[in-house]
Amino acid sequence: MAKWSRYNIFIQEDKSNGIYFNTRTGALIRLNPERQKQLKIPSKMPHDLLQFLLRQGFLVGDDIDELELIAYTHESARKNLDTFSATIELTEACNFKCLYCYQKHTQNHMQDQVCENVIRYLSKKIKKLRHLHINWFGGEPLIQLKGLKRMSQKLKNETNINGCSFSQHLTTNGYLITQSVAKELAVIGIKNVQITLDGDEVSHDRLRVHASGKGTYKKVLSACKYVVDANMELLVRINVNRWNVQHIDSLLSDLVSNGMSSTNTIIHATRTVNHGNCNDAVSSAIYNTKEFAETWINILEVISMYGFNLPSLAPTAYNCPFDLKQTIMIGSGGDIRHCSSSDESIADLTEAGDEAGHTNLYQTVKERRPLDDSCCKECLYLPMCMGGCSYLQELGEEKCIPERHILPKLVLLSASQANNTNAERR
Ligand code: SF4
Ligand code: SF4
Repeated sequence: MAKWSRYNIFIQEDKSNGIYFNTRTGALIRLNPERQKQLKIPSKMPHDLLQFLLRQGFLVGDDIDELELIAYTHESARKNLDTFSATIELTEACNFKCLYCYQKHTQNHMQDQVCENVIRYLSKKIKKLRHLHINWFGGEPLIQLKGLKRMSQKLKNETNINGCSFSQHLTTNGYLITQSVAKELAVIGIKNVQITLDGDEVSHDRLRVHASGKGTYKKVLSACKYVVDANMELLVRINVNRWNVQHIDSLLSDLVSNGMSSTNTIIHATRTVNHGNCNDAVSSAIYNTKEFAETWINILEVISMYGFNLPSLAPTAYNCPFDLKQTIMIGSGGDIRHCSSSDESIADLTEAGDEAGHTNLYQTVKERRPLDDSCCKECLYLPMCMGGCSYLQELGEEKCIPERHILPKLVLLSASQANNTNAERR
């Protein structure tokens, strides 16, 4: 016998059709009125429909506990030690003074001794890995391009010797990317570059100011073009807040006019977070998660209208990669940090290349489980959220994903984008 999944939601699409979505499997089906009638009486359901719904996870066997399936998915990710991912803060220095930045900028770069410790630590890991992923990070990492290249080469050699694949991502403000730097980055093996653009020139230049006080938009937009011209994937991050929400349409228009499209660019619109150091004016421009979600749906419509892809509604094995021990952020002083949004140390790296001095916060961040929280256990969105963001929880903010506030609208938008794509293919 079968029962309905606890993770089904039904959304009325129009007068006759409805959509069924399952948050545990990410399955989405459109049902005409005839099919909707058949679903009402499971005992009379045609065999082929019953089997289909079981395969898609809308129905599950009577003896299945879906919470156990979710816990199993999470534990499997924790036990998968084939891949290791490190975000490396090459420097604390930055040439920008963004109004919401959480970092305390100094002129400190990662010292040679620390670089050696990091290489030693990663070399030990590489021996047991199939894949190593590095995210070069700062401050502004391109201030330390020489150091980046040196470490990248060493890690490339180590991974080659040990038959381990190697990928690299760069998070940069883009200001130092010229055409030749972009080519150099591609030659080093960087596959994707994340650059933040906080709306069009008016809003970006207000929020992401150069340390000299000048605007940065034009240079950063050119950097985006150089990145895609050098055949690297571009990830444009937009930190959404009340100051730039009306300026995203014109940013997308600028991106498209400069050659960015869904084939080379991913748009990631996310909430600006107050890390506790914003002044009153900036704080009042920041949305809470629910307010952001209600705005986000309109932004996603615009993103879709410009032909860029929407974020996936697929289930996940963990809320954030930094929940896992095999994803770490290494600070420029050689300490292990909570995540890339926080400069709080949770452990150290020794000269011998080992982790040491794990704090209580390390245990809280790396050992928590999606079913620990009784609210999450009952939550329809658990398979997409896996217990929320530990950093936001530490800040005392809502830890839930924005999707929970607007999921029916998101599902309808995804279904319509899929329809349009299919129509184009036909
Ligand atoms: S570019 Fe990044 S590190 Fe630099 S001030 Fe802006 S948010 Fe901070
Ligand atoms: S953090 Fe919030 S959205 Fe996520 S599972 Fe828990 S209650 Fe649900």
